[in-house]
Amino acid sequence: MSIQENYNNIKSQLPENVELVAVSKTHPVSAIQEVYNLGQRVFGENKVQELTEKHPLLPKDIQWHLIGHLQTNKVKYIAEFIDTIQSVDSEKLLNEINKEAAKNKRAIKVLLQVKIAEEESKFGLEISETKDLFQKFINGDFPNVEITGLMGMATFTEDETQIRKEFSILKNLFDELNQIRKLETLSMGMSDDFPIAIESGANSVRVGSAIFGRRDYSI
Ligand SMILES: *Cc1c(COP(=O)(O)O)cnc(C)c1O
Repeated sequence: MSIQENYNNIKSQLPENVELVAVSKTHPVSAIQEVYNLGQRVFGENKVQELTEKHPLLPKDIQWHLIGHLQTNKVKYIAEFIDTIQSVDSEKLLNEINKEAAKNKRAIKVLLQVKIAEEESKFGLEISETKDLFQKFINGDFPNVEITGLMGMATFTEDETQIRKEFSILKNLFDELNQIRKLETLSMGMSDDFPIAIESGANSVRVGSAIFGRRDYSI
């Protein structure tokens, strides 16, 4: 299937209230431009260097989301233009984003990445850490950051029950924090599990290979 067919196919499966983040990591600028021309404006990349290389070559109205683990010393390279950092997994990182956003006289939207997968390898905050950080945000500790929601990744497994269980943990936390202060975005679901994520309450999905095709290496 072509990129266009893939894209239309994914779009047709998304309810109107669900945002699509097209994950373009490892794919060339030409492929991103093709999806842009179909109307897509929100794209996700997981590496700062790749993002900073692609960003100047593409239309200015793309909303770039950083979805991969971010080292504090690299925040400065994206602070000027990044729309949303979905992968905030420490207070140190949040402090750095706040500092760099202030330098650029702006606010940066972020999602707190919560560890919901049983797999050891996944980054993310524990539930208690997430609540603590959110409270500090409400107390005004990060004035140049806007926490707009939560992001999570389920275990890479065929076991649908397991995936549903993990997504529901994040949905429950989202509902709890949303009572304290209104949140916009619950980002969960990728190419293989986005329909389950939507059933579990996601209103933003991050889809890469189902649009752009297989990546040559897995990340
Ligand atoms: C690569 C990636 C995706 C997209 O994965 P696909 O399986 O290609 O859809 C989503 N979220 C994160 C955090 C990723 O790193």
